Amino acid sequence: MQIKVFGCKVNKYYTDKWINSDYLRDKSGVFIASCVVTDNAKRKWIKFVKDTSKEISQGEKMYISGCGAFKDGRAQEDFFELYPELENYKGQIEVLGEDPQEHTTQNSSSNPPPNLPPIKGEEHEKKIDPSKLSSLTSKLKGSSMYTKKFVLIQGGCDSFCTFCLTVIKRWRHFYRSKEEIAAEIQEFVNRGGKEAVLTGVNLSAWGLKNTYDPKNFSPEITTKDIQWEGSRFAELLQYLLDNTTIGRLRISSLGPEFIDEKCLEIFKNARIYPHFHFSAQSWSSAVLAGMKRHYNGEYIRDIMLRTKNLVREDGVDISLGADIILGFPGETQENFMETYNFIKKVGIQKLHAFPFSPHEMGESVPAGKFSDQVSDKDKKDRMQRITELWDQMRADFIASQKWKTLQVLIEQVEWDSFKWWTQNYIEATEKNFQVISGSVKKNEVITGRLHNR
Ligand code: SF4
Repeated sequence: MQIKVFGCKVNKYYTDKWINSDYLRDKSGVFIASCVVTDNAKRKWIKFVKDTSKEISQGEKMYISGCGAFKDGRAQEDFFELYPELENYKGQIEVLGEDPQEHTTQNSSSNPPPNLPPIKGEEHEKKIDPSKLSSLTSKLKGSSMYTKKFVLIQGGCDSFCTFCLTVIKRWRHFYRSKEEIAAEIQEFVNRGGKEAVLTGVNLSAWGLKNTYDPKNFSPEITTKDIQWEGSRFAELLQYLLDNTTIGRLRISSLGPEFIDEKCLEIFKNARIYPHFHFSAQSWSSAVLAGMKRHYNGEYIRDIMLRTKNLVREDGVDISLGADIILGFPGETQENFMETYNFIKKVGIQKLHAFPFSPHEMGESVPAGKFSDQVSDKDKKDRMQRITELWDQMRADFIASQKWKTLQVLIEQVEWDSFKWWTQNYIEATEKNFQVISGSVKKNEVITGRLHNR
């Protein structure tokens, strides 16, 4: 089975499950994990499907999963109505749900998805069979399977941000028990694994009954369901540090509202990867309110500045990342400058910047119908300005790390050349990294200094 993954680490995680599932074991063709974060993202996998239809042999199929293929985690019954340009390929396509463990294909509408509102209490803890997860990382990157592993800790979401299609596509919030997550990570370490990447849809909401707070719930949910408990994310991180011997625990996108004092304290730990990526979206309170985010500009500026200035046990300088949307309806030039100026002030090293997508293809989002849409020209200008600024921020950060002692987990070696990332997300190669200790072999962690930059 060939694999093509579009989009996020959650897609990579579920692709791993599908590829190792009984359902696909004896099937051949192409597995495609689709992404709907923007209309552009939709166009990419739709084009891939059309191109691939000419390459697969008679009897083979394209198995499409990922957010383009399901709703509430279940195979989308109106898939070809949503994507009429794929109607001609119906015979070559099978539409799959999110999780093979709860697999229903397009054809069996026997059990429609359960109604909202979100499930409660222990129902949020979902069991996942680790024996079904093994090989993807190697297949995806062609590197040894032992270096890095994506570990899903949480899934789904209840927050209903007005620009988001993911919340409509993936099921309600759930999380895995800390014992199960620790067992999966330790099993990976016992097989020689070096780095675990914690992933999820709203991962820092781990352990909570829901992902929203009272000020901001969607109409389907009644007040009696709502208790705001504060974060449990630090509790999970501490448990994993205490109950596994993993050397590198990397964290994917963080929901800022769940990062508290305890989290900041634990982020200093040398086994926690010193790169923190915030799902910020904007630093303007006016824009954040329109998005129905659970924090304002002041909060997100404060939490990111404090993270940046943490003094780590290993003395490594922290690098920051952020997801941002530019040109959200109603975003004025002044609002945009709040985002621009904060990026300049704090210095972001990894930026996922998107122009706001009104989602005119397939399903839409509430903000797509807002009256005060920003022009494509303004979106383009803002994207360009932010990209130029980010290039400068990145160059400044890399220059600031020159001659500092850093570590690299080797994932790729060809002859004497290697390429991978330092802990604080700088690309290291034999050309810019002077090795001090460790052997340049796959799956080895080497220590050295950056130079030549
Ligand atoms: S927090 Fe908001 S943006 Fe993130 S998955 Fe949930 S609804 Fe979407």
